[in-house]
Amino acid sequence: MAEGLKKIYVQIAVALPVNGTFTYTVTGDLADKAGVGKRVLVSFSGRKVTGYILRIIQPENRKGLKDIINIIDPYPLFPPNMVEFFEWLSNYYLYPIGLVIKTALPTGLNVRIPYGTEMPPKGWLDRVGLLKRVFITVKKGTFLDRSLFDPKRAPRNEGEFLEMIIKKKGVSLQEVKKAFNNGAYLVDKWVKKGFLKRSLRQVVRDIAGENIFISPNPPPLSVKQKEVLEKISGKLKEKSFFTYLLHGVTGSGKTEVYYKAVKVATELGRQSIIMVPEIALTVSLASLFKARLRDRVAVLHSALSPGERYDQWIRIANGEADVVIGARSALFAPISRPGLIIIDEEHDSSYKQEEKFRYQARDAAIVRAKLSQSLIILGSGTPSIQSYQNATIGKYGLLTMPERILKREPPDITVIDMTRFEGSPTVQNDSIISPPLREAIGENLAKKKQTILFLNRRGFSALYLCRFCGETLRCPNCEVSLTYHKQGNNLLCHYCGFRIQPPDRCPSCNRENLKPYGFGTERVVETLREVFPEARVERMDRDTMRYKGRLQQVLRRLENYETDILVGTQMVTKGHDFPNITLVGVISADLSLNNPDFRAGEITFQLLSQVAGRTGRGNVPGRVIIQTFNPSHYAIIAARDHDYKRFFSQETNLRQQLDYPPFSSIANLRLLGNSKTKTGKIAQQMGEKIHNILKKRSSGKKDIKVLGPVEAPVAKLKGKYRQQILIKSRRHGYLNQLLKEVGKGSAQILSSSGVRLIIDVDPYQMM
Ligand code: ADP
Ligand code: ZN
Repeated sequence: MAEGLKKIYVQIAVALPVNGTFTYTVTGDLADKAGVGKRVLVSFSGRKVTGYILRIIQPENRKGLKDIINIIDPYPLFPPNMVEFFEWLSNYYLYPIGLVIKTALPTGLNVRIPYGTEMPPKGWLDRVGLLKRVFITVKKGTFLDRSLFDPKRAPRNEGEFLEMIIKKKGVSLQEVKKAFNNGAYLVDKWVKKGFLKRSLRQVVRDIAGENIFISPNPPPLSVKQKEVLEKISGKLKEKSFFTYLLHGVTGSGKTEVYYKAVKVATELGRQSIIMVPEIALTVSLASLFKARLRDRVAVLHSALSPGERYDQWIRIANGEADVVIGARSALFAPISRPGLIIIDEEHDSSYKQEEKFRYQARDAAIVRAKLSQSLIILGSGTPSIQSYQNATIGKYGLLTMPERILKREPPDITVIDMTRFEGSPTVQNDSIISPPLREAIGENLAKKKQTILFLNRRGFSALYLCRFCGETLRCPNCEVSLTYHKQGNNLLCHYCGFRIQPPDRCPSCNRENLKPYGFGTERVVETLREVFPEARVERMDRDTMRYKGRLQQVLRRLENYETDILVGTQMVTKGHDFPNITLVGVISADLSLNNPDFRAGEITFQLLSQVAGRTGRGNVPGRVIIQTFNPSHYAIIAARDHDYKRFFSQETNLRQQLDYPPFSSIANLRLLGNSKTKTGKIAQQMGEKIHNILKKRSSGKKDIKVLGPVEAPVAKLKGKYRQQILIKSRRHGYLNQLLKEVGKGSAQILSSSGVRLIIDVDPYQMM
């Protein structure tokens, strides 16, 4: 080489919707800085674009290669062992590899270009990490009681103050001062009397900036926990790929098992990833781990600011974390020595990303574990049919924790047949809250116990209907009915957010006969206010949870027994232990059951089991009442009887007969366009194309079924007309191959048609 000018060759993925990777050269000084996992700037089709170095290579053909323009990163953003994983993702989900990597990297990267080779400061960890706070607790050996204070001589709020201290079993001085102007004085007084004690405690801050106290010392494990941990440790020591399904009922103590498993992996020199389905759960789990492992814990989720996420990312890439905790995107945590991946609530559909790069984080995590010789644990109280099937056929190991830690009884579940309370065409209170449920709520109120009511639809009504001609008002952008929201007096589209004032006259028959029909959470709250005017009712759904910190406020009021009845959507079904909740009512189990989706039964069973788990957490056993028009549906009966196995066997029978997953692989090809006829025409052409490809095949034809093209159940969404083609195959390999051919052939059909093709592999949303 002339004058020893250094020249190397790199394989680059560009952050553009193009297939394949490209070879570039790096020369001179830049060659020393090049490395796998760094971003580069390259010229591509006359544009300057970001690329990612996948490999340093020795290409056969070295002619006509372009030089890269620059190297962006001083240090790699992902380790070399992730390249194979990105390639698998791109191949399986038929998504361009550069965009896979772009999705994987924190969004902060796109707004912030690093300044030098300095590591970022520990900013986020310092702010949200461990703090010490003065806590006030009742002194051991003393008995504090309201009767101790003399109302004539004490400050007016002293009773309230003592109640807070007694109930909370430990509260920070800061919190006391916030609640009471004379808080410092009151604390002083009762400390001097010898009843209260001040101590310094470690706290972590939650997402709303509140301090939560967490014991840094793990409790001794139960016999069952030990048994499960033993098996997990055994597999970890083998340092090879294996999948465990941990079927542990809610409250069986899975978290402590996770913690110990992470400890074992760390001792073996390997790093762990723990995924949870949502941000709120990430925060509480991360708090527990931080209290014990300090800054060896990293957190990744979308509530971090871009800068914070970037800092976390770089720390992880530098090997400064033993465990990464996060939501779906923690799948891509750039750890270089993975050994353990844990997916908590593995059945949760939020592991599926529903936009752009449509991956399933649980499924992809199994592949990441396989590629890195790691152990993966899928934990759930109601495992997905897919995972349990894999455990049944021996592909996964099965671990079970069938009992709650404190041996509490599971709640007693009653199913109410709502056909008994139907009759009049307008919705009566009885058809929202049936007499048996009403009676149970009344009893619970009288006993000063709390109730949760669950309904998976927000708003006041389901439809806005003309009582004369039957016309329902629909969204102009989406083929769905508008929901009436009394608060604000709006008709709202739950798909695109379109809103209008309700018109006086029916647009179809011009009569003044439009009325709300059916009901949502807002209507349930109104009904409760009529029936139980004295009850303190609160609503928890997307409408009331708009503002940051609202969720924590509502949960805190529930915890402090300032709420008697909490009405809400899916949000009320997850997490959080409240011992005083002794009744759960499911207003309608039919909404999820009637979805046009092969998982409707599975989702209903999971929802009912999960919401039932919100009760009976204290000393009093819980009660659950489920209202439904399908009282004999197998999913409802199995949930009533706490019988996972029976549900599993009935559900798998059905799936097998209909060739649905896990007995087949499916892909949903969706065509979206602004014109209804054009979209329909392109869908037809795409259908023909698929049949032509299949005709040319010598083998595997019979293993593939093509359904459609048909209009999607939601035929128009956000202004786009929607057609879909469902492809099923018993062999995923055949399906994958077909999809690739379709993908190649589609460019010609789609070109300048204004119609877009979306390929959704292993789809969750069938609407
Ligand atoms: P899961 O995640 O299985 O629903 P958790 O891990 O939340 O259950 O545990 C339920 C409760 O039991 C928690 O309050 C936890 O602190 C407590 N717990 C777990 N393990 C033990 C143990 N070995 N001894 C005492 N309490 C425990
Ligand atoms: Zn809409």
